[in-house]
Amino acid sequence: MRVLIVGAGIGGLTTALSLHAAGIEATVVDAAGELRPLGVGINVLPHAVRELTELGLGERMAALGIETAEMVHFDGRGGRIWGEPRGRALGYDWPQYSVHRGDLQMVLLDAVRERLGAGAVRAGTACEGFEEDGDVVRVRLRDRTSGTVETVETDVLVGADGLHSTVRAALHPGEGAPRWNGIRMWRGVTEGEPFLTGATLAVAGSNAAAKLVVYPIARRDGGRQLLNWVAEVKIPDDRLSEFADWNRAGRLEDVLPHFADWTFDWLDVPALLSRTDRILEYPMVDRDPLPSWGRGRVTLLGDAAHPMYPIGSNGGSQAVIDARVLAWELARADSPEKGLAAYELERREKVNTIVLACRDMPADRVLHTVSERAPGGFERIEDVLSAQELETITGAYRQTSFSDVAALNARPSLTP
Ligand SMILES: Cc1cc2nc3c(=O)[nH]c(=O)nc-3n(C[C@H](O)[C@H](O)[C@H](O)COP(=O)(O)OP(=O)(O)OC[C@H]3O[C@@H](n4cnc5c(N)ncnc54)[C@H](O)[C@@H]3O)c2cc1C
Repeated sequence: MRVLIVGAGIGGLTTALSLHAAGIEATVVDAAGELRPLGVGINVLPHAVRELTELGLGERMAALGIETAEMVHFDGRGGRIWGEPRGRALGYDWPQYSVHRGDLQMVLLDAVRERLGAGAVRAGTACEGFEEDGDVVRVRLRDRTSGTVETVETDVLVGADGLHSTVRAALHPGEGAPRWNGIRMWRGVTEGEPFLTGATLAVAGSNAAAKLVVYPIARRDGGRQLLNWVAEVKIPDDRLSEFADWNRAGRLEDVLPHFADWTFDWLDVPALLSRTDRILEYPMVDRDPLPSWGRGRVTLLGDAAHPMYPIGSNGGSQAVIDARVLAWELARADSPEKGLAAYELERREKVNTIVLACRDMPADRVLHTVSERAPGGFERIEDVLSAQELETITGAYRQTSFSDVAALNARPSLTP
């Protein structure tokens, strides 16, 4: 069986590694002329770290990022509202890592080239469409340098081509642009001194107004760290006027005014934002969950299948799990069609639920309540929120990000 994967992001590359581990031949094409370590920080949940560890990448992951110890919510004045351990500290057998997205992509790319061969990933090659013909899928690929188009035959086609997926558009025509919820996100990375535990994922404010997410993603000389931040601001006009592009440059003067007085005793937010060399801007978009992902010998994976708001650390993590389940099901099915159907059955409803839970943001509603009830800050959070309201935050994360700890620890491996 030969599998052609469109997209060399975290999803596509993990699919290639997973198929290889299952004894299935795979090739990856990516439209980008050169695969460079783009993006900023992401969190990789224990569920996905388990899969990457079982692919033999545990040590590289540990060397790459910071093992996330806790997640803590604060109000917009830096007062602590709620916190919970993360990863192994919460009881998982695998850690949670905060990493640079581009560095993780490069670790996966190196592993694919080492294991599948130097030619297994073709950059500068865009998928333009496909035809299904019995047991064969004919895929049109354009060489972006020469402009020539060739048609290649494959047994299985996997669209791992992200938010603006060509494969998804062919399978589900007429979907239109992604849906925007009116929140603009600015992102950046910059060096700084460790804050709080040095391994804290901190969230301050709420999406009803302005919110900041900040966490360390790498160690630097002299005990310093590379700090990742995402600043999210709700804009009254919710018509999305620009193309959602992960590489679009943002401007300090657009984001700084919303955080000008966010100087906490544990972090100076205006200073953090101001010393960032390169700020990126992205609208918080997703797409409606699909009633089906693929058909026959063609399927979708990662953001192409289920783009979601980048909250709750699920974008990259769910793509990794998709990849492993896809390989597992293809390896044990007696036909590619049955393997892809089993993959979709196992994954689609689970991930669609996460897409909708990310939209619902129940934790955020509670955080907003704090700013309404205690606009000037608080001494004790118990005077502002009931125990039940605080429990809502815990429950929200369990729903969007964490399957039960014991269930993950006990589940058999997906290595065929
Ligand atoms: C450049 C970039 C930067 C990102 N930065 C961040 C970030 O800072 N924070 C965050 O939370 N998430 C970021 N993301 C998204 C995040 O990586 C994904 O949500 C998650 O990792 C799931 O990845 P994926 O592999 O499904 O899709 P993606 O990571 O989007 O990868 C899709 C790949 O498909 C390729 N592609 C697209 N169309 C075609 C085509 N027609 N033919 C061939 N190849 C095609 C793209 O070049 C890309 O490499 C970024 C994505 C990209 C592409």
